Amino acid sequence: MSTKRDYYEVLGVARDADGATIKSAYRKLAIKHHPDRNPGDKEAEEYFKEAAEAYAVLSDGEKRARYDRFGHQGVGGAAGSPFGGGGFDPSAFGDFADILGDLFGFGGARRRGGRAPLRGADLRYDLTITFEEAAFGVEKTLKIPRLERCDECDGSGSAGDKAPEPCSACGGRGQVRFNQGFFTVARTCPQCHGEGTVISEPCDTCRGEGRVERARTIEVKIPAGVDMGARLRLQGEGEHGRHGGPPGDLYVVMRVQPHETFRREGPHVLSEIEVTYAQAVLGAAIEVETLHGTKTVEVPPGTEPGQQFKLRGEGIQRIDGHGQGDHLVFAKLVIPRPSELDDERVELLRQLAELEGRPVRESMIERVKKMFH
Ligand SMILES: [Zn+2]
Ligand SMILES: [Zn+2]
Repeated sequence: MSTKRDYYEVLGVARDADGATIKSAYRKLAIKHHPDRNPGDKEAEEYFKEAAEAYAVLSDGEKRARYDRFGHQGVGGAAGSPFGGGGFDPSAFGDFADILGDLFGFGGARRRGGRAPLRGADLRYDLTITFEEAAFGVEKTLKIPRLERCDECDGSGSAGDKAPEPCSACGGRGQVRFNQGFFTVARTCPQCHGEGTVISEPCDTCRGEGRVERARTIEVKIPAGVDMGARLRLQGEGEHGRHGGPPGDLYVVMRVQPHETFRREGPHVLSEIEVTYAQAVLGAAIEVETLHGTKTVEVPPGTEPGQQFKLRGEGIQRIDGHGQGDHLVFAKLVIPRPSELDDERVELLRQLAELEGRPVRESMIERVKKMFH
């Protein structure tokens, strides 16, 4: 963003909007564009920062008055802003994160101090399956390494019954504040890492983390019709949360191996059948392998190379369960190698060429034949 948008415009409020209206407008935008809801979405992140910056100014009577008179210069502009440049730092929003409350598990929860429950991280598992498994569905047993609640300390991180003590560096708030330009910036406390408390006697098993890494075995039912890159969400199968927080989710991402002869386009399967010159000219019933066994394709007289035939409903079940794709067969004209021809066939072809009035170079065929015998 080279030119900064007007803060009122950013929040979509009138210039004389009252505090409650501004707060409500910001809250809506912050929830909509929050990075936790839009992972990897740079544009949403920009909107989120923009809204936060606008709210930081318009919610403060003095800053708002300066902004109304002098515009962005009056409140430090981009240069002095903790939002300009660099990566996204949620702790920079400490001053107004309480507006978002517990929605996203940071800021608001930490500011209360203590060891508030935090949701566990989501996990991703790339699962390689065969073409047929993707088509028909399959059950798989997965071993997922993840952080689980430590049984030894029951997740508290403390050895014995000793309760965690308030952090001396931040007074239990989990954040330290300092002034930067016109903003008060809150940063995660370096001593307690935002916990607000420190453990004097850490649990031996988890070294105070409250969680230990374990390999969890889970059965996953892959539905018929999944395709490359499909994501399966297993709720609550991610990492356990800290301090009794809810677990994250596990995302199983499908990697489908290519098939030797089949290709796939959505629910449709594509393959080729070999058609000889004689079959293409006179027509033939040709057998073709499909996912559902051997089927017969009626190749009509006068078939062109690349001509397409449809075996209706012989493809892959649609992932939404609504019907079945088709198997599309493409005619591939096969030309025999000279080494594959015997004298009789050569003689017949020569006769054919004569009848068609398109003579072949006899000597050439003979010469090539000798090379291969
Ligand atoms: Zn422990
Ligand atoms: Zn601290």
